Parts: sequence; C-alpha cells; structure tokens
Amino acid sequence: MAKEVRVRFAPSPTGGLHIGGVRTALYNYLFAKKSGGKMILRIEDTDRNRYVEGAEDYIMNSLEWCAIIPDESPKAGGAFGPYRQSERLSIYKNYADQLIKDGKAYIAFDTPEEIDAMRERQKAAKSSIQQYAAGTRMQMRNSLTLSEDQVSELIESGVPYVIRLKVPEGREIVVQDIVRGEVRVNSDIVDDKVLLKSDGYPTYHLANVVDDHLMQISHVIRGEEWLPSAPLHALLYEFLGWTDTMPEMAHLPLLLKPEGSGKLSKRDADKHGFPIFPLNWQDPKTGEVAVGFKESGYLPEATVNFLALLGWNPGNDEEIFSMSELIEKFQLERIGKSGAKFDIEKAKWYNEYYLRNKDNDKLSVFLIQDAKKEGVEIPKDKAVGVCGLLKDRITFPQDLWNQGRFFFVIPTEYDEKFARKKWTAEGAEVLKEYAQELDNVDLNDKEAAKQKLYDVSSKHDVGFGKVMPALRLALTGSGGGPDIFDIMKILGNHESKARILRAIDVLA
Ligand code: GLU
Repeated sequence: MAKEVRVRFAPSPTGGLHIGGVRTALYNYLFAKKSGGKMILRIEDTDRNRYVEGAEDYIMNSLEWCAIIPDESPKAGGAFGPYRQSERLSIYKNYADQLIKDGKAYIAFDTPEEIDAMRERQKAAKSSIQQYAAGTRMQMRNSLTLSEDQVSELIESGVPYVIRLKVPEGREIVVQDIVRGEVRVNSDIVDDKVLLKSDGYPTYHLANVVDDHLMQISHVIRGEEWLPSAPLHALLYEFLGWTDTMPEMAHLPLLLKPEGSGKLSKRDADKHGFPIFPLNWQDPKTGEVAVGFKESGYLPEATVNFLALLGWNPGNDEEIFSMSELIEKFQLERIGKSGAKFDIEKAKWYNEYYLRNKDNDKLSVFLIQDAKKEGVEIPKDKAVGVCGLLKDRITFPQDLWNQGRFFFVIPTEYDEKFARKKWTAEGAEVLKEYAQELDNVDLNDKEAAKQKLYDVSSKHDVGFGKVMPALRLALTGSGGGPDIFDIMKILGNHESKARILRAIDVLA
C-alpha cells in the first residue's frame, strides 16, 4: 500500500508571511488534497532571537483567508503534536544525545572568539578549510579532543556548550528532488553544523528533520532557498537510522522581481507599489504597516489562482482555476525549475476576472460597506444594480464606491475642464426640455429614453454629440462612467430630472 501523503508547511514566526510563503503553503495544500492526504502546519519557533510576537497568528489568519486550512496545526491539534517546536524541546535533546552516543555528533565548548581565532589560523596557513569541520575540529575544544572527565567537569561547572554534527569526510551525498532531479554534494563542503544550541534549543536542521520523521512527513515541499540544507538533512536521516522513511523532496523555484532577474523582495514591492504580504502586517517594533493583498482589494480566489500559476503550470494554456480545480489538476512534476517572475498586472487581471464573475448581490456587500465608512447608507437593491453596471469596469472592490459614489451622492461639483469643453447654452436648453419630458418616459426602456433625447435635440437643432456629454456631466458630475441611459435607469425619473435642473442652475 502506498504510504499516506503527509506534507507540512513549516514557517518560522519571524515576521509577516511573505507571499512566496503563501505559495509554498498552497502547493503543500494542493498536493495533500489531491492525494487524499494531510497538510500539517508546524510552527518552527526555535530561534528565540528572531521570534516576533503576533507572527504565528498572522500566519494562521493569512492561510485562512486563502482557504488553506491545515488538517493538523497548533490550532486544530492532531495526533502528532505539539505542533510548535518550542513545545518539543526534550524530544530534540534526546535525539542529539543519541547522536553523540552513536559517535555521529559531539559536544563543543568553543567561544565565538576561539572559532574566529581558528579561522584566522587557517587563513594564515592558506588552508581552504576555514569552517568548523573535519579538517579543523581536532584543533578545537570539544568532546573529541578533551577527555571524558574534562568534558564532564566543564558541563558541571556550567560552561556553555553546543552539540555539533560530525560530518564525515569525502562522502558524496545524493539527494533526489522531484523538481531539480538528482543533487550531489561532497560532504567536505558541509560544516559540522550546530544541532543543539547552548540555550537548549535545537537549530532548524535538527528540529526540522526530527519533526519531519516523527510527524511521518512523506513529502517536503519548500522554497529553493532550503535546497543547500537538503544534503545535510539526508545525512541526519542516515545517522538517525531513518533513511528508509526519508521524505521525498520538492524545492520550489524562486519568485523573481518583476524585471525578471533576482529574488523578489519587499523593496521591489515598495518600489512598484504592490503588496508582498497576504494581509496587512504591522511590524511590532517599528509600528510600520506593510499593506496586504487583502487590504489592497485582491480577492482570495484571485490571489490563490495567481499564486498557483507562479511556478506550476497545468500543461496547457488554461489559466482560470478554482481551488477545487487546482486540487484536481495539481502535480509536483509540473513545477518548473526556473524562477517565476512576479507580475502584479497578472494578479490584477485575475482580480478583474473574479470580480466580473461574482454575482451582484455579493459584490454589493463591498459597496455598502465602503459607503457606510463615509457615512452614506445605501439601499441594497440600488447597490446591486450599480454593481451590475460597474463590475466590468473595476479592478478592485473599492473601485465600486470610488466609481459609483455619484449614484448615491448628488454631485455638488462638476469636472471643470470637462464642463468648459462640453457644457454649452444650447445643450443646456435641450436638457431643460428633456428634464420636463422625463416624467413621461419609462427609463427602464433605454431605447425610449434615448429616442426622447434625440427628438428633443432635433427639435432644437442641436447635435446629439453635444447633448450627450452635457447630460453625463449633469448626472454624474464628471465625464466618464457607464452608459448614460443605464445610469438614468438606476437613478430613476425623479432623481435624473432633479440632477439635470440642478446642473443647469449651477453651470449657467
Ligand atoms: N522554518 C523554515 C522556514 O522558515 C522551514 C523550511 C522547511 O520547510 O524545511 O521556511
């Protein structure tokens, strides 16, 4: 029987979750759901210096907004918990001790100054090895060079120590990656990494491998920046006797700057004025707020669809996928090796698509909310009608209110430039008569409303092209917007008439 698919998203709560992290979570989720498996959220909070208050909640809220709901997590619980590494410290310590016992790791007492001094010595001797590794470890103060008694004494007297992995010399380590293929690394370039720090916390490497094993992770799907750690992890699996159950690996391509080369950074986002976090993120230290996709007006379904295709493709030119379609189509084998250019215009395109396909009733919630923020109460049925008219013209939900305000608030000012060009005394003359006639026009019949305006214009011998812009200005206060007869249909006879007469008054 094939083993159960269990994948994990394992962020460190060191700040706001970058949108690239959301993509990693999404790919894990899609793969788990496609395979009938489980997705786990594990919080890797063992680096106490980088721990940021609020980051864990932020991560969970971000995933929830995208409808990426882990099966097991600190919040949901599960049979493999706890799911916060800071709550699992004794587990890591036991495995570190086991590695020492098996001669695969050792205790090291060196101070940072002693390690620096070693580097200087190696440099002076023109050695290529300047790290704590096979070629230098015997010069250092550790359980390989000190006697057992000395080691016990140092520990008892409270001298801080770390536990380091004893990386073998000259070994070729081979890692199979679903995206990258075979990755081969010579162990000589891997240093004797610290596994357990002097504060008793494990480093990322130990905790990550131990937890992937204990949580029975079948596939590790993570960002490419972790590829260099993979050989080290393979070694740890071997030393811990877990090679047979080592998860399969898939390292995801980087998200690239909009210009196409180099890793996408917060600076790029600031420069181009687009979000890089899923939700607003307030840095607790500086108080600075980085705007989120959500608050910028991106819909979660558009964001998810956009992210899914940043690095994965379905093998044809289809671009629109709901979450359930993504689950159906997703394959790790279809993830590209090369970086994916972050094109915010594409995200906007998705947003427009999903807005156009939302029903007017749902859209009207945004409009009603935004109006309320400005103290304007608007009736639901009118809001629904306006959404129907505007949804093909907007990129973000907030555009509904920005572009549709005039439906609910009588224009008090008129676009000056447009008025100067398009408002004429003869046009006003026509509009005045039209306004009087409006009582007898059924505005639900657009053609009739138009015909009537045409008749009045002809009667006054004024070109229709002169009258239409003036009517638009009178009704909306500006020169743009949807079809004017559609607008009148929503405004109704009374309101349309009042606006025309008011404009004639003000602009005369
Ligand atoms: N804690 C690591 C991170 O912050 C996890 C990397 C991994 O998935 O192994 O991304």
